[in-house]
Amino acid sequence: MHSYIDSHNHMQALSWDDWELLGMSGMVGAVLSCGNPHVYREIWEEVPGPEEIRRFWENPIRLARVSEEKHFIRLKCAVGISAMTRVRDWPQLVKLLPRYLQDPHVVAVGEVGLDPGQYFGFTWPLADQARCLEAQMRVAADAGKPLILHTPTPKKSQDFLGGVATQEAIPPERFRLHYLQQDLEIVERVGLEHRLLVIDHVDATIIDFVHKETRAWCALSIGSELRPIPPQQVVEWVQHYGPDRILLNSDHIPYRSTDLLAIPKAIRAMRRAGIPPEHIRKVAFANANQLFGFGF
Ligand SMILES: [Zn+2]
Repeated sequence: MHSYIDSHNHMQALSWDDWELLGMSGMVGAVLSCGNPHVYREIWEEVPGPEEIRRFWENPIRLARVSEEKHFIRLKCAVGISAMTRVRDWPQLVKLLPRYLQDPHVVAVGEVGLDPGQYFGFTWPLADQARCLEAQMRVAADAGKPLILHTPTPKKSQDFLGGVATQEAIPPERFRLHYLQQDLEIVERVGLEHRLLVIDHVDATIIDFVHKETRAWCALSIGSELRPIPPQQVVEWVQHYGPDRILLNSDHIPYRSTDLLAIPKAIRAMRRAGIPPEHIRKVAFANANQLFGFGF
């Protein structure tokens, strides 16, 4: 069995038995993306503020301190102000971020990034999102910590608890690239080094762009039905682009159906396809181990 690190998920909202299954499937480490109210299947009727978001940062940090002893999975946290739910008084949170980044269990800022769709119908104008994103990128750059950049997935409101409000109509084939390019303008303005930038939820519409136009990490989220990426697709991309910049993650999130075994399935497909073991190790373990300082 291959040991793997899941470079982005929301398993703070999964059950004890799910954690046991993940551990038995070879997961030895994971980065929890913290700060999103919707991952707990809560429905919000008012825009959350700093108090609430801090709760979504701090609970997983406490969990990360004890997870390895109970479940043999080393957890690290990424904390940030996600644009998937509008947040009130966000500058107060930005001020607190540097202090959270000093916690040994916090290894990154994220997931953050422009998104035209907000949960619970609380539209967050893109210009204000961009200011919030820029402020958080400056914190990551100053701290020398990685930043996990969420790139948005087109969503239909009826598919989500509490609905989603969408503010721009961009065709699906240009959707993710459209927002990624705006994110990257901010990256360049701030001067965040690409070696600290993880472009996440990469799919067929941006994988070529990410490899040719940036020097950033290319993270593939393969465990949620929101973005179906079959194991064979992972095989082809690792063969085509090589293993040096690819990170695998599940983005397990319990508001939609998930495949808890998505990463082990991709690993087995890569073995079957004859991808060299050291390449598999890089995309499923070593790249994340080094970038996020897991210390394995
Ligand atoms: Zn996520």
